[in-house]
Parts: sequence; C-alpha cells; structure tokens
Amino acid sequence: MYKLGVIKGDGIGPEIVECSLNVIRNLEKRIGTNIVEYIDLLAGLEAYEKYGSTYPEKTNVMLKECDGLILGPLSTHLYEGSNMPNPSAKIRKNFNLYANIRPIRSIPSSKFQDVDFVIVRENTEGMYADRNMINAPSEFMPDKDTVLSLRLVTRKASRNVAQVAFRLADERNRKQLVSVVHKANVLKKGCGLFLEECNKVKEQYSHISLDDYHIDAFAMYLILHPEKYDVIVTTNMFGDILSDEAAGLVGGLGIAPSLNEGENFAVAQAAHGSAPSIAGKGIANPVALLLSVQMLLNWLGKRYNDKSSLQASTILDEAIWRVLEESDIKTPDLGGNSTTEQVCDEVIKVIYNLPVYI
Ligand code: NAD
Repeated sequence: MYKLGVIKGDGIGPEIVECSLNVIRNLEKRIGTNIVEYIDLLAGLEAYEKYGSTYPEKTNVMLKECDGLILGPLSTHLYEGSNMPNPSAKIRKNFNLYANIRPIRSIPSSKFQDVDFVIVRENTEGMYADRNMINAPSEFMPDKDTVLSLRLVTRKASRNVAQVAFRLADERNRKQLVSVVHKANVLKKGCGLFLEECNKVKEQYSHISLDDYHIDAFAMYLILHPEKYDVIVTTNMFGDILSDEAAGLVGGLGIAPSLNEGENFAVAQAAHGSAPSIAGKGIANPVALLLSVQMLLNWLGKRYNDKSSLQASTILDEAIWRVLEESDIKTPDLGGNSTTEQVCDEVIKVIYNLPVYI
C-alpha cells in the first residue's frame, strides 16, 4: 500500500478531491486490491485558520513519510506575507519535483481534433519569485516605484526536465518528437543554457527528432496546427502560460491534468486553480484531477514495478476517456449540465463495466 498525502486545497479543491478519492476507493474494490492509504494533511486557507500558516511545518514533516500526494488547487491570490507561502511551490521545491507534466488531448467536442501532446515544464526555478532564492523572494524594490525580478536557470534543472521530455517522447504511443520552446534570441544566457542542455540530452536519443521555437511564434503555431506537436519542453513560466493556452484548444482547464515529478516523489495536481466563481456549487469538472491521479498511479506503478498500480491506472484512464468520448454526463464547462458528483459516478459505473484486465 502506498501512503498518499491528501491536501484538499481551497475553492473547488475539496469538491474535486473528495470525488477523486471516491473513484479510487471504487477502483480498488473493482480490482480487489487496496493500493492506497490516505494521510489527510492541511495546507491552504484552512491551515492558515488553524495553524497560522498556509503550509504548516507539520504538513511538510508528514509529507516526507508519504510516497506521493494528491493536491487540490489553492487560492494563492489571497495569500499575502511570510505566513502565507504557496504550498504548491514549497512542495515542488522541497521534494525537487523538477518536471511538471501536462498532457493535452482532444475530446469529441474540442475546437481542434487530433491534438495529443504533452507539455513538460521546468518546475522549480525560472521567473517565479517564490522558489528562486533560499530565504528571500526574487522580486524586490530598490525604491517604491521600481521592481526588479530575477530569473533562475540552472544546468541541472534544465537537464533534468529535458531528460523527462525525451523519456516521454520515447514511449510507445508517442510521435518521437521533442520541441524546445524558449526565447534565446533575447534571453541569450538563460534560455541559451536551457536549449544547450536539451541539445545535449538529444545526443542520447538519436532516433528522436528535436526542433526548437521562440515562445512568441510558438504561441501562434500551437493554435495554427496543434496536431503537429508531440512533447514540448520549456522553462517554468512559458510552460505555465502555454499549457493554459493548450487546454483552451481542447475544451478548457476542467480537463487539463498535471503530474509534478521528481526522482522519489510525485504529486497529482490539476493544471487549473481554485476557480473561486464556481466554488461550492458542485459543478466543477473533476476530470483534470482524476486524470492527474491516474498519472500518479502510473508513476507509482513504474517507479516500484508494481502491477496493481499499473492495472489501476490503465482502468482509470480507460474509464475517464470513455466518459469523455461517449457519455452525455458533462459539467457546464464542457457544455453539459451535470454535477461533479454525477461525472464521478459515471466514471465509477464504467470502471465496474470494464474487464479487470485490459
Ligand atoms: P483558475 O484555473 O482557477 O480558473 C480559470 C477559469 O477556468 C475559470 O473560468 C474557472 O471557472 C475555470 N475552471 C478552472 N478549473 C475548473 C474546473 N475544474 N471545472 C470547471 N471550470 C474550471 O484560474 P484563476 O481564476 O486565474 O485563479 C484562481 C485562483 O487559483 C487564484 O488564487 C490563483 O492564484 C490560483 N491558482 C492555483 C493553482 C494551483 O493551486 N495549482 C493554479 C493556477 C491558479
């Protein structure tokens, strides 16, 4: 049994996390094996109310005992000051989760069909002020009308994320193409170093093609012919922006999953935020988090060479995609009028109808 931390998060977080746990419980029942033991952990606004911090030390310590984490979205626009750090950034940094893997795939109602690519985003450095320095934010003000923002790019993190991109491009179902997205024409040193490391990793994969694009032009190419791409690798902020754009090509953030991956730890976390305007209404799309949990089960299965976890991830993947492709049960973001719970119940129904070995 894997110990999985569970942080419900803010906004729609508790609704989609509860629903995902219910799906996993039924998945375990279906295959007749218990795979997961849950450890409830506090982070976010509830943790701030109870312990005076959005990421209490107790949560950090308990996470170290876990094999992975299911992390709900967090309302970080409301976090202000040193007692309200972004738990997501802390966890990515503390557990060196250097790759944020964000798959994008068409569903029948998508504006663009035949889209099937994955964005691999560097996750621990870049422009983001809350993860760049050991004890200070990397945005600071020399006077009240001036802000300086630093960007961090290291060889090690660039190489790590490039290795994940090539490993994914080498998988059976992929087109064996890695596209590096950067702005090395202007950010010659930072993006230059990132590109250099990607080119070095390419040397180990002679059968995989590599191309590269400037981020500004790539944002357009992605909309003009999204079906062309396979694995896209880029730095932190470019990846964050591109992946939301990419989600828009296929139906929105409600179906955009992500896995934060390091050597020894992984976190299932939907690509979207806490969606405050629909929180508490029971209509948030649970699919992004469900697909993220599926990625986590797959990661655990591969990491520990564990058939049960791999089998659970295969069944869950098949069930979610059958609901997306064949069912009318959809939340409003996909044009339907079903609730979060109804979508999960539909996924559970399909899980029980699928053969155990697929
Ligand atoms: P958001 O992703 O929460 O919402 C953007 C749009 O997508 C909204 O229209 C929202 O209703 C919709 N949406 C998102 N998830 C959905 C779902 N599961 N089902 C249906 N519709 C969904 O982004 P935002 O509004 O820019 O940010 C809201 C809060 O989330 C902010 O505090 C932001 O900092 C935070 N945020 C957190 C994370 C995270 O915790 N990983 C990621 C991004 C944003």
